Amino acid sequence: MKVLVPVKRVVDYNVKVRVKSDGTGVDIANVKMSMNPFDEIAVEEAVRLKEKGVVTEVIAVSCGVTQCQETLRTAMAIGADRAILVETDAELQPLAVAKILKALVDKEQPQLVILGKQAIDDDCNQTGQMLAALTGLPQGTFASKVEVADGKVAVTREVDGGLETVSLSLPAVVTTDLRLNEPRYVTLPNIMKAKKKQLDVVKPADLGVDVAPRIKTLKVEEPPKRSAGIKVPDVATLVSKLKNEAKVI
Ligand code: AMP
Repeated sequence: MKVLVPVKRVVDYNVKVRVKSDGTGVDIANVKMSMNPFDEIAVEEAVRLKEKGVVTEVIAVSCGVTQCQETLRTAMAIGADRAILVETDAELQPLAVAKILKALVDKEQPQLVILGKQAIDDDCNQTGQMLAALTGLPQGTFASKVEVADGKVAVTREVDGGLETVSLSLPAVVTTDLRLNEPRYVTLPNIMKAKKKQLDVVKPADLGVDVAPRIKTLKVEEPPKRSAGIKVPDVATLVSKLKNEAKVI
């Protein structure tokens, strides 16, 4: 059984990004980039399924610039068997990524596609759902537990107020939530091994996909600066200020 794991190269979660002065986006020049944290969880889950003997091959996919190869090498250092880079300098929106992934699903015929629930750069939370729609596959989103058995995958989902477990027939699309697992640290020997693993590069046009953007970003702004706090002398003043000034009680 093959598993496809899409991994996105995003600004590292420790970096405090700055909005460009013309408000057209976020400045990512010379900024540390890493694998989207939810995708690390997805790779870890796929590799654990392989270690359990449920899965035979884990294929990592990234769509974007040449440097996404680094992200794919990290996925292979975690344990993915091979990788595919769908290379383009174009801005990729979730629909374009979902179309690319649909073409790869048709080609590779994986039984499971495990994506992150969202990319931490644009917070879209759309690609997995769009992929499920385009392929007609069942989806289990925000997974905190994944169990594969008898041609089905049971996905425990984090929903408002609790956990919901759904059973999907394979092939299926799953998206990962934070508590699914804790990804392992990549070791130096595995980084070295990953350098020798197969990494194929294709272009969106080779897959017959038009990646032209469908959404236009109008403006990106910094959040408003927080004003300084004050010290109050006693609880009565605090309650009065919360009631009459902040109007929150
Ligand atoms: P999003 O819908 O943009 O929040 O992304 C959700 C998930 O889709 C990510 O966690 C990745 O698994 C996958 N994904 C999104 N963009 C890309 C990309 N450019 N390359 C590979 N996977 C991606």
